[in-house]
Amino acid sequence: MKNLPNTRTVTTGTNAEHARLHNRRVILEAIRQSGRLTRADLTRLTSLTAQTISNIVTELQEEGVLLAHAAEKGGRGQPPVPLSLNPEGGYSIGFHIEQHCIIGVLLNLLGETVAQVTLTVSYPTFEQALPLILEHVKGFRQQRPGGRFLGVGIALPGPFSVEGMTAVGPTAMSGWDDPAIPLRLQQEIALPVLIENDATAATMGERLYGIASDLNNFVHLFIGSGLGAGLYLGNRLYSGHWHNAGEIGHMTVIPGGKACFCGNQGCLERYISIAALLEHLGYPADHDLGTWDANDQVLNARVEGWLDEAVPALRQAINILESVLDPQTILISGFLPDAILARLITRLEPLSRSISSRSGRQYPRIQMGAAGQDAVALGAAALMILAEISPDYEALLKPE
Ligand SMILES: [Zn+2]
Repeated sequence: MKNLPNTRTVTTGTNAEHARLHNRRVILEAIRQSGRLTRADLTRLTSLTAQTISNIVTELQEEGVLLAHAAEKGGRGQPPVPLSLNPEGGYSIGFHIEQHCIIGVLLNLLGETVAQVTLTVSYPTFEQALPLILEHVKGFRQQRPGGRFLGVGIALPGPFSVEGMTAVGPTAMSGWDDPAIPLRLQQEIALPVLIENDATAATMGERLYGIASDLNNFVHLFIGSGLGAGLYLGNRLYSGHWHNAGEIGHMTVIPGGKACFCGNQGCLERYISIAALLEHLGYPADHDLGTWDANDQVLNARVEGWLDEAVPALRQAINILESVLDPQTILISGFLPDAILARLITRLEPLSRSISSRSGRQYPRIQMGAAGQDAVALGAAALMILAEISPDYEALLKPE
């Protein structure tokens, strides 16, 4: 993890007993941002009393979350003891469940990957995925016996619970809309569980592990079987009232265009998605593009034909996103083979004129993401770590 979002400056705390958890996060966040801090540094940075800091630091050391290092020499009185986060002080698990694969990651408290697993599946329902999730949670826990596991983040393709969109078409995952699923997962896994849409989790993955570590306002287009956008606005995730913000797959970009399974015509996902590419190439919906041969000239020509259709639709979507959100940049990533994604991005030029076409830009309007295909699972797991150590976590995750 390059760095967690630096939420302006270190947040100050309160001494009220009911805010103990908040104060704990304030201390952890201050230490995370600085790497090492003494109790005196913490008093100065957080405005908490020395007594409050002492109580919480003692508690965190006993839990193994903080490490104390050799005292610094010099000065009078007791030499100050630097404190740092213990990488092994907590673990988080993330899963990206999608149409053709389940990716699982195990992260330590610093957000570093300890283990990773990829499983091939085919449109798993909840009942089919649950035993796989449980098996791998067990496997991850066995890698760190006695470790403190903070929770499990699970990212799924959206949109969630939208009549006529969630369960139709080649990109829909059925069997995930039961409102009882979150509680059932929590009970079966016996750890806190957070469910997020894949594009939003990928956005956090790109913010923490990719090229967005300095960005406070960006859009992340994630091309999977379908298409979703993650929105990171004002230095926090924006997921909308029903967690469907950025579900732009069914945004009409070509009025009167291709018929969509949702009943509309000209939906973006009918042009830009792996499902759309496979359909254009005449492959079945579960074909694995991992076997794509970059030197196959016939196939290359057919991909070029797909780009002829896909590029105008994506330009239209980019124009809309830029006009509505005024982002610093738009990142594009996902499961397309890198060579095809690079061609897609090259072909987008010239982009339509918008409020984003300005000289002196710090970043290009469109960039390829860099967090890789694990970005969604990494982001989902990182959200559980943020829950432990970020005082702004709730605001970061839930704007409403
Ligand atoms: Zn549609």
